[in-house]
Amino acid sequence: MRLFEKTVRYLNPLAHLGEGNYSIFFALIFSVTLSVVSEILAYGVLRNPDAVGVYIIFLHVASIIYFSFRSGIAAGLTVTFIAVSYYFYIIYTRDHTGQQLIRSIETTLMLGGVYFLLAWVIGWLKQTIDVLIEQEANEKRRFRTIIQQLPVGVIVTDRKGKIEFANKNVQTILGTKIPVGFTVGEKFFVKVVESKPSPPTQSLLAKTLATGKPVFNEEFIIEKGNRKKAYVEASASPVRNAKGAVIAAAEILNDVTQQRELEHRKDDFVNMASHELKTPVTSMKLYIATLSGRVKKYNDRGVEQVIKGLQLQTDKLQELINDLLDVSRLQTGKLSFKKERFRLDELIMETADGLRDSAGGRHIAYTAKTPFSIQADRFRIYQVLTNLITNAIKYSPDGTEITIRAKRADGKVVVGVTDRGIGIDKDQQKKIFDRLYQVTGAKEKTFPGLGMGLYISKEIMKRHRGSIWVESTKGKGSTFFFSLPLPKSMQATKAA
Ligand code: ADP
Repeated sequence: MRLFEKTVRYLNPLAHLGEGNYSIFFALIFSVTLSVVSEILAYGVLRNPDAVGVYIIFLHVASIIYFSFRSGIAAGLTVTFIAVSYYFYIIYTRDHTGQQLIRSIETTLMLGGVYFLLAWVIGWLKQTIDVLIEQEANEKRRFRTIIQQLPVGVIVTDRKGKIEFANKNVQTILGTKIPVGFTVGEKFFVKVVESKPSPPTQSLLAKTLATGKPVFNEEFIIEKGNRKKAYVEASASPVRNAKGAVIAAAEILNDVTQQRELEHRKDDFVNMASHELKTPVTSMKLYIATLSGRVKKYNDRGVEQVIKGLQLQTDKLQELINDLLDVSRLQTGKLSFKKERFRLDELIMETADGLRDSAGGRHIAYTAKTPFSIQADRFRIYQVLTNLITNAIKYSPDGTEITIRAKRADGKVVVGVTDRGIGIDKDQQKKIFDRLYQVTGAKEKTFPGLGMGLYISKEIMKRHRGSIWVESTKGKGSTFFFSLPLPKSMQATKAA
């Protein structure tokens, strides 16, 4: 069978396209054999020297077309040369004379011309196609070499998810070879310990092929050989042709282990540092409280003022340390919640009252005090409210109004804190809820802060199945909203 396939391949002129092999060997052997067989037929079998007729012309034309298309101009010309030589041999051996000799020579020369042209045109066509194929192959090879050496891992599948190509870096990043012909899906060929944002149920390539949409920056924690963990960041996208049909999918992998380990070390440091700072600050507060009690006896206004200042600053320091601790607990998943049922409207009132002293000339108004009972961590919701109101104070000028509203919508309570302050650009409005994100405009730089408050608030809302967002116009003011699900009993009754 293999011999048969090999023979068919050897004889098929199309199989030699792009090879660039222009050997005349086969053409020479064939055309000489053809002449010899033709002579044997005429003399040996038919016993008639004139039996070599039109059929030989037909055979020569066919073999010139075949050989010039199979092996190029030289092969076609070889057949032409042998054919013309054979015709002269016939003229010589059949003793043509006079008019017949002249006609035979004329015919031979004409046929020779036609054969030459045929061999040249078809051979040229074949060689041009070869050059084009070679150029295309070179381009492909160049492209492959580039992808092979990219400093990221690249995997390409066909439209059904069968892996067609993976560059060297994939193996380095994943620590294992991709099994040949592996089809992406629910099974992974590496041990995936964890993945963000979704649990590791499906490979990214399978996901992108199923949805037809790109997936960006998902992170996988995988176990490499000798139980070493590696953090891999991956993005995948379907590849479409000009008509928009998906023809393949591609994934890019990045090893982010070093960055993540550094971040963990930083988180650990912040966690340890804030723990260490907590104790001395608590003691400082106690000392200051004792000192304040003693100083009151002497009725010294100046010293009392200094101690008040000290108290204010230590309170701020304590808040900062608590925020730092919360951020690192959120990072490590160690922030715990104690849910209880309480009146949100009362909590809003208390928080607003507590912050009036630090509001400067701003007026804090809480309107429409509808009673709302919710099931949540009271202290954490207090933290969110405090953050939103202190931001409203911080980012708005003296003498303006800060309004707090709460209303019911679709089984939820929505609380809004509105200020008439500096406002936030549209493109920044999502980012301000990211960890340590601060708007960097000239105006914003003048306000102190570390960009932790809104991140903590967003995470607190997430843990309560609630949400937080902002509506704002630059220069005019902002309203920060958060919404929390109401307990079933509250959803049924209308607010009083
Ligand atoms: P911080 O206020 O400590 O910088 P936050 O996380 O509370 O951190 O806020 C993040 C950023 O969002 C702030 O730096 C500020 O640029 C912007 N921001 C927050 N609240 C307001 C507001 N009410 N008006 C204008 N900008 C705000």
